[in-house]
Amino acid sequence: MGLLEDKVVVVTGAGGGIGRGIALLLASEGASVVVNDLGASVHGEGASASAAGKVVDEIRAAGGNAVANGDSVASWESAQRIIGQALDTYGRIDGVVNNAGILRDRFFFKMDPDEWRAVIDVHLNGTFYMSRAAAPHLRAQQSGAYVHMTSTSGLIGGMGQANYAAAKMGIAGLSRSISIDMAQARVRSNCIAPFAFSRMIGAIPVKDEAQAARVETLKKMDPAMVAPLAVYLLTDAAADVTGQVFAVRANEIFLMSQSRPLRSVHRPEGWTPQSVADHAIPALRANFYGPDMSKDVFSWDPI
Ligand code: NAD
Repeated sequence: MGLLEDKVVVVTGAGGGIGRGIALLLASEGASVVVNDLGASVHGEGASASAAGKVVDEIRAAGGNAVANGDSVASWESAQRIIGQALDTYGRIDGVVNNAGILRDRFFFKMDPDEWRAVIDVHLNGTFYMSRAAAPHLRAQQSGAYVHMTSTSGLIGGMGQANYAAAKMGIAGLSRSISIDMAQARVRSNCIAPFAFSRMIGAIPVKDEAQAARVETLKKMDPAMVAPLAVYLLTDAAADVTGQVFAVRANEIFLMSQSRPLRSVHRPEGWTPQSVADHAIPALRANFYGPDMSKDVFSWDPI
């Protein structure tokens, strides 16, 4: 018996990379899977139905249940169609994995509004549309789970990724909010910041030697290594796990949820701009965010 027998899960952007790994593992644990993928380029151009179809063929060849969907997550109408396909084909929906994504990297001071909008549309708006389209069904059955892909680019920072970082940080906030609003309906929502060598990572321009070294490290990280945590979060075994942000880096799983102040300073007499400068900032500075933190996410150690 698999851990997800009788469950129906939609995985977006599952025609390759991390989404494909999640779809395959879900099916091997007994879930029926709607494999969604627009089959677009890494920048979000074009479309091809074959991406999702190939993964469906793989799942069926291994004895699993899956159907392909080639819609874009970036519109409310097509998100409703994707969820509708799960209901029409399998009669229910138990989980949504918001994984579809594109990149349009450019330094912030050069980024044009179209590059901003395209990335926000797929990642942040797509995650909202898909989650919202499934919500009434999950609420009615009083069960279900969302898993959303966020990124250290948003949680920590990433050069040339203002659009992507904003979308991914937005997804972390959206997930937390869903976890609160849907708690009474016993619907859970969690995020994963993955590390994996995929087409998307291969598309990031390598600017210096340090970055080239990071790409070499990433090459050892098979996208399938993200799947066990994602699949676990969709099982009933994760019934009390919600509102969390995890990261998966090869064989490490990190907890990234940050919900408490790092440090505080208090003055009973209140503050003036000068006393902020003299007392508050020196006390808080030790915990300041610095651009160095985004330079090498491979150097973090578990605390
Ligand atoms: P990928 O490019 O292999 O996969 C993304 C998939 O999404 C592609 O197959 C693409 O066709 C599909 N897609 C794009 N736009 C779509 C749309 N509008 N509708 C439906 N499908 C669409 O990249 P990946 O690395 O597997 O990325 C998966 C997720 O993980 C993304 O959300 C990405 O931002 C996130 N992520 C990846 C890494 C990493 O190290 N690979 C790091 C942080 C976050």
